[in-house]
Amino acid sequence: MTSISRFFIGLFLISLPLLAQKKAFEVVPLGVKGGIDETNLSAYLLAPKNTTDFICLDAGTINAGIEKAIANNVFTVSSDEVLRKYIKGYLISHAHLDHVSGLIISSPADSSKTVFATKDCMQMMEKHYFNGDTWANFGDEGPGFQIKKYHFQTLAFGEETKLNNTTMTVKAFQLSHVNPFESTAFLIKNEENAVLYLGDTGSDEIEKSNDLRLLWQAVAPLIKEKKLRGIFIEVSFPNEQPDNALYGHLTPKHLMKELTKLEEFAGKGSLQDFKIIITHRKPPTKNIQKIKEQLKKENALGVDFIFPEQGKRFDL
Ligand SMILES: [Zn+2]
Ligand SMILES: [Zn+2]
Repeated sequence: MTSISRFFIGLFLISLPLLAQKKAFEVVPLGVKGGIDETNLSAYLLAPKNTTDFICLDAGTINAGIEKAIANNVFTVSSDEVLRKYIKGYLISHAHLDHVSGLIISSPADSSKTVFATKDCMQMMEKHYFNGDTWANFGDEGPGFQIKKYHFQTLAFGEETKLNNTTMTVKAFQLSHVNPFESTAFLIKNEENAVLYLGDTGSDEIEKSNDLRLLWQAVAPLIKEKKLRGIFIEVSFPNEQPDNALYGHLTPKHLMKELTKLEEFAGKGSLQDFKIIITHRKPPTKNIQKIKEQLKKENALGVDFIFPEQGKRFDL
């Protein structure tokens, strides 16, 4: 073997771990806050890298987020085209208005697609929003005249379901958001890669639940195999918020306790540089800043915190 070919084989071997780290998904946050600002509420577009096959994870804010992304040159088509052609469907974690108001308001301008949610959440949306009364029923189920623009597809917990018009699949897990009110976590897979998105949730300790424990157990193997590209999870309040006033939400301290449990299942050091995307920080601005500082200070696990911004793309 010539020294030059040895050099190229060496180069190839060195670059192998880099190739393995190749990004698998793109994310465009359409809204990132946990309240008050109606132009910037929970909604995250997720697509396999280099495609425009986006699924929208929660839908608190749609149009204002698309406009922001266009202003940032993330999209080069019109907002109408992003809404109608790029967004292939919606995954709704729970029916609180800060997670669905964008979907409701943009529905008249939207194209035909599927809205996915678990049974309780779907029934609440059909009963209270898309009921032909408070709003037209754009769906194909529930009360009022059914316009049938949206297919309302109920997800069973723990069952892998295809996200139509994309190459991705989803599996739903139950979360507790002021027990017994249910919220949902979505495990989205594309080929061998995955992303986990959690809707609003409290910690098991405060919620007297084991939903997060079961979720951590289910995803730990994917972390071990380096297939999980990141976890979207909420931190609504800074540590100063008393435990009896969390309303089914997390603080930095409670998140770190939960992530420590996840690390126990996935193995010591397994969360080093692992991407945790912090969602749903509630205004005022001083609290939003405080949450960031407290998380960075309490980061004994060495996770890579991402604080998403509206209309700014990042890859996972
Ligand atoms: Zn909520
Ligand atoms: Zn919320």
